Amino acid sequence: EPFCRALPKVELHAHLNGSISVATMERLIARKPHLNIKHSMTAIHKGQRRTLDECFQVFKVIHQLVDSEEDLLMAAKAVIREFSEDGVRYLELRSTPRVETNTGLTKRKYVETVIEAIRQCKQEDVDIDVRFLVAVDRRNGPEVAMETVKLAEDYMLSSEGIVVGMDLSGDPMVGHGKDLLPALQKARNCGLKLALHMSEVPCQKEESELLLTLPPDRIGHGTFLHPEVGGSWSLVHKVREGNIPLELCLTSNIMGKTVESYEKHHFPYWYKLGHPCVLCTDDKGVFSTSLSQEYQLAASTFGLDQEALWILSQQAISCSFAPEAIKQQLEKRWAEQRSQLL
Ligand code: IMP
Repeated sequence: EPFCRALPKVELHAHLNGSISVATMERLIARKPHLNIKHSMTAIHKGQRRTLDECFQVFKVIHQLVDSEEDLLMAAKAVIREFSEDGVRYLELRSTPRVETNTGLTKRKYVETVIEAIRQCKQEDVDIDVRFLVAVDRRNGPEVAMETVKLAEDYMLSSEGIVVGMDLSGDPMVGHGKDLLPALQKARNCGLKLALHMSEVPCQKEESELLLTLPPDRIGHGTFLHPEVGGSWSLVHKVREGNIPLELCLTSNIMGKTVESYEKHHFPYWYKLGHPCVLCTDDKGVFSTSLSQEYQLAASTFGLDQEALWILSQQAISCSFAPEAIKQQLEKRWAEQRSQLL
């Protein structure tokens, strides 16, 4: 555990509202006592498991607690600080712009507030480089997706490199990627990077085939891509041919019941192929985890030694959407820290 904490890390798959810690949640709950929300409604604790569907109910509760500019700024800054304290030196935070009529929150204000949180952390010398992936919730359909792409494009041009790409997420049982393809194509064409949730549940084979034609720059989960679990060789072949990195979230997949046990996770399938795999938290608040804990779990479950963990963390740099100059800075920093750790 001390090694995994000290290890400099890259986090590429973290949903802002799923990453809020217990401490921050306490502050948010105290601000809105009338909602009568209990802790047990905002996080799933060790040993507990919920269906994905139940996990999405948790997000609904959290969204009630984070419904104003002030809440969002406070939550985002706390999440960034916590990742930094856990040894994360580069973070891509993703979040879905939301309208809240009660508080006057608009989608533009939402995006601006997340950018502001990132800027403030930088000014306050929090030791972490943070970028923002604007998320499309698949549930909201093609028009909203197109609107979100336009928003992301605007801020990609005006945020001095903070907005670098887009995420496609939300309940995988709702909506179809086919309808969202034109929006995602547009995003790609204007230079936004794409990190898409794919094959998170078994019935998404056709959708994944379609999304791979874009192709995406990274894949979230990819739990059911390979033929042994109902995917196909064609999917595996395309992912390998494109060398498309996978964002893998062990605890999230076990707690969300899409994977039966740590031992049965698809990490070793891809890892043994030499395919780029990036360990991520997904929702460190909801699933009560941290990135160093995820590295520790990978080590104990799949027998990775410190050298292997080091390489895993270093390889994540090249999978990021950071500009080349930043990647080089990160590589340099990793190289400097290596001798102290190994
Ligand atoms: P937000 O976008 O910052 O509000 O973070 C919460 C949102 O992230 C949820 O409402 C979902 O749309 C998305 N999300 C979080 N975890 C998952 C997951 O495991 N699968 C798909 N979508 C997810």
